[in-house]
Amino acid sequence: MKLHYTRGFIIYSKKMNEADLLLSYITEDYGKITCFANNARKSRKRFLGKLEPAMLTGIKFYEKPGMALDILYEADLIEDYKNLRKDVDIYLFLTKLTEISRILCQERDNNKNIFYLINNIFKGLDRIVTPPEDSRLRVSLNAVLLKYEIYFISNMLKLMGIYPNFSNCVGCSMDNLHNAFGFSLKKGGVVCKTCAEDKNGDFQYSEIKQLPVNFINLSDLMIESDLSIINKLNASEDILINCSAFLRDFLSFHTGKRLKSFEII
Ligand SMILES: [Zn+2]
Repeated sequence: MKLHYTRGFIIYSKKMNEADLLLSYITEDYGKITCFANNARKSRKRFLGKLEPAMLTGIKFYEKPGMALDILYEADLIEDYKNLRKDVDIYLFLTKLTEISRILCQERDNNKNIFYLINNIFKGLDRIVTPPEDSRLRVSLNAVLLKYEIYFISNMLKLMGIYPNFSNCVGCSMDNLHNAFGFSLKKGGVVCKTCAEDKNGDFQYSEIKQLPVNFINLSDLMIESDLSIINKLNASEDILINCSAFLRDFLSFHTGKRLKSFEII
């Protein structure tokens, strides 16, 4: 058995038996890994308070040849992004981030930049001063969280090599489609007005999704910039909600899965 050490975030946790846990991590050196944590809920020294979501931990785990699951030996707290677990709206964003990571990332498909993307987002979110529950400032918090969401999803798609084709019409290859008419989920790209309206063409009108206003510019900006873009970018909450819904539909179609975290209200 080989003992490994890396840093990682929990993206999935499931109780097994009375005291054991099944845990999935996004790690810095091994991509997504899934570990069995024996007696995790009772072993205070090795695990207590170190198996929460949005915590950056250093983990030691055993790899057993021929076994699908690794075995978690020990976890150490490196950075406790505890503000993410204190606020209900930030926590809801966290459930989206972890579900998307779990669905998109393959086991042991290592891409360090995914780990750094998540770490940067957690650092940024941890610094947000959360307004009281009944305050009007909640509206602006939700707009900020939507920007984080669009930033995260757009960059994940780019890092996974599945960022949609927003530059050329998937019907006729026409380029410069900054004001594209719509988007074909089936073909994974934008559709110009002429192709969309061509009754003898490849597209059935009903399968073309309307792109939210400014979506392409917004998403392209997100993948070209660091996180500071979130504070610089002005967009109304309505537009951001539409952009989020479009990305949800794209992810659902691409993965063939329903995203349950988007259904929590
Ligand atoms: Zn076209």
